[in-house]
Amino acid sequence: MKKFERSVAAYKEAVDLMPGGVNSPVRAFNSVKMDPIFMEKGKGSKIADIDGNEYIDYVLSWGPLILGHADDRVVDSLKKTTELGTSFGAPTQVENDLAQLVIDRVPSIEMLRMVNSGTEATMSALRVARGYTGRDKILKFEGNYHGHGDSLLIKAGSGVATLGLPDSPGVPASIAENTITVPYNDMESVKYVFEEYGKDLAAVIIEPVSGNMGVVPPQEGFLEQLREITEDHGTLLIFDEVMTGFRVGYESAQGHFGVTPDMTCLGKVIGGGLPVGAYGGKRKIMERVAPVGDIYQAGTLSGNPLAMTAGYETLKAMDEEAYQKIGEKVDRLVEGFKAAAEKYSIPLTVNRAGSMVGVFFNEDPVVNFETANASNLDMFAKYYQGMIEEGIFLPPSQFEGLFLSTAHTEEDIEKTIKAVEQVFSNL
Ligand code: PMP
Repeated sequence: MKKFERSVAAYKEAVDLMPGGVNSPVRAFNSVKMDPIFMEKGKGSKIADIDGNEYIDYVLSWGPLILGHADDRVVDSLKKTTELGTSFGAPTQVENDLAQLVIDRVPSIEMLRMVNSGTEATMSALRVARGYTGRDKILKFEGNYHGHGDSLLIKAGSGVATLGLPDSPGVPASIAENTITVPYNDMESVKYVFEEYGKDLAAVIIEPVSGNMGVVPPQEGFLEQLREITEDHGTLLIFDEVMTGFRVGYESAQGHFGVTPDMTCLGKVIGGGLPVGAYGGKRKIMERVAPVGDIYQAGTLSGNPLAMTAGYETLKAMDEEAYQKIGEKVDRLVEGFKAAAEKYSIPLTVNRAGSMVGVFFNEDPVVNFETANASNLDMFAKYYQGMIEEGIFLPPSQFEGLFLSTAHTEEDIEKTIKAVEQVFSNL
């Protein structure tokens, strides 16, 4: 059995200092009935905790580390940038360099604004959508998570789903009433909402592949139909690609599916592990943002040179071949999960999009929040604890996906599949 003495001591100290001992609820291990594990270091696909236990890491800081931990290119570049000063509150060249890379690859983005988190990106995009259309209402999907801004913290996924807090106190009713929610992949409900409220809807915001109720891809035609109905009603279509951006593929989910929204939110991978977010879209929309336009949004540390450098090095390294290679490892991992489930008669559904994998303890297809919720959470918790013992670090919730990086080796994948077999044989 692994020992966690130092983690236990650190956690004891932390619970008095921070709510739940953590700075983000998803780091608490409530739903897997464990205490959080404190980490010390990572290199490539491996991560080590403060008791010296080593794991193959499929959390990757919840997605950003697509090159793995402490990639030499990122670290070397960060060292050089740091020595020049960490922040100026004035423009720097690297902001242009990263912006250009993003604009070159993400079809919908002609112009963008950097911010400091995914939450800021979605909050800002909504403000722009509302300012641009002169409308207040928005439509979001149950089980999609778009950060913790008031308008979006309604029937949300991620930690909200893990902890069962669908409607957080503190969100004023006057704000919540402008957010309409419908089930993911349910075009009939979308049509109904447009019939009722079409002329009041500023935006439809969606994770083009949902990653916050576990991984749930869009059903065929769903994104295309959303594109059509929003265009018909003068409503902006916003893809929240904070998780899928540069992870689902070279051109993000929108390039992968060939559907171009009006606006896109980014985060995670474009910061290479440092705090970042961005929102962008058509030039005529983005030119409404201050100081060119009248819609205000700002940030002391936005476009911070360290975050821009880590993001730039990361995106530069992610050429088309890198995506293909990760994809091959994902194929093998998915195959391994499915074979182990069959061998040990475990009810399992595996969803996958690019290098995001959703493993549900559920034998039926998982297409929305309701079906994701029908998963066996007790079985997930046992599987989770077993995988930790086997040295595999996974997101501690049934409602989160696994991420792979370019640093994961074939050996890592085979070791993980063996661990899955071992754990499934005891479930
Ligand atoms: N949107 C999506 C799709 C996300 O997955 C997340 C975070 N997991 C966010 C927004 C919020 O990003 P952040 O945690 O950086 O505020």
